[in-house]
Amino acid sequence: MTVNRSGLTSCGRALAVLATLCAPIVAYAQTPAPPSTVDPPEPVTELRVQDVRPGVHVIAGAGGNVVVWSGADGIVLVDTGLATSSAALVDAVTRISAAPVKFVIVTHGHADHAGGNEAFAHKGAVVIGHESLREHGGRDPAAPAANAEASAITLASRPVLTTLDAIALHLNGDRLDAVHVADAHTASDIVMRWNEADVVALGDIYWSGQYPYIDVESGGSLAGMVAAVEGTLARSNARTVVVPGHGPVSNRAELAAYRDMLVAVGRKVREAVETGMGIEDILGTRPTAEFDAKFGRPGAIVAPEEFVRSVYRDLASRRTGR
Ligand SMILES: [Zn+2]
Repeated sequence: MTVNRSGLTSCGRALAVLATLCAPIVAYAQTPAPPSTVDPPEPVTELRVQDVRPGVHVIAGAGGNVVVWSGADGIVLVDTGLATSSAALVDAVTRISAAPVKFVIVTHGHADHAGGNEAFAHKGAVVIGHESLREHGGRDPAAPAANAEASAITLASRPVLTTLDAIALHLNGDRLDAVHVADAHTASDIVMRWNEADVVALGDIYWSGQYPYIDVESGGSLAGMVAAVEGTLARSNARTVVVPGHGPVSNRAELAAYRDMLVAVGRKVREAVETGMGIEDILGTRPTAEFDAKFGRPGAIVAPEEFVRSVYRDLASRRTGR
């Protein structure tokens, strides 16, 4: 069987930077050398810590955003950043609280969100995640495997407590509901909601102030992302703190504007696909033009063109009955 190494990192085909940030953890488990077009991520030494609610901090700079939930019962982490950031992340978490990290819940299996699982598991944390992260590296089991290595994942990185639906943690005077949402950024996304603190964390379903990446090859879809955002909007209010997978801590109004952008760009690309246009012609129509000032800032991880390409791959593949 021919192993398509670039197939390990669907993001890598789309954008060199994304290959670094969005590769499933299996890529790091199985391929010591990253794709030739990508430099390995530099170890992170300085992280930014933000106190968003009593007992809830957000750490940026370790890869994807990390949520630290601390209190009398110990620490729960949502996501663990890149493996190369583990040492810095451990230091940052320790500065917030000296209590042990009891649980790690991963929003999905990409390396910039689950790469530090192993470091915290070694320290005794119980890693929780979607069932498919054990067997499929976060990919959609129904989707054709991009290569033979897609099912491989490091033993120490895999969740030991898994769910196909939802799980609740009752700690630190609050209740954290972790609920699976189908086929959104990937096939294995979990959305977190703290009931008392009134905080939600959406993982890479939400990229605040920038275009998202949809990992179609791992089972993600635009419709699933919109549905997950709608579900969050329905359960939040003007006071709710909304933590994105990438970008600054946000709120309901910004999440609603992001939803509007997803729907509008999706409609334009869908209509173009239905007229038989190919991706290059669709890009020529600049379907994101009206949103670029807000979401297409220079230096963003996902350029407008890459976002449109991922929407196209999703919609075109469904049209041909993937
Ligand atoms: Zn991701």
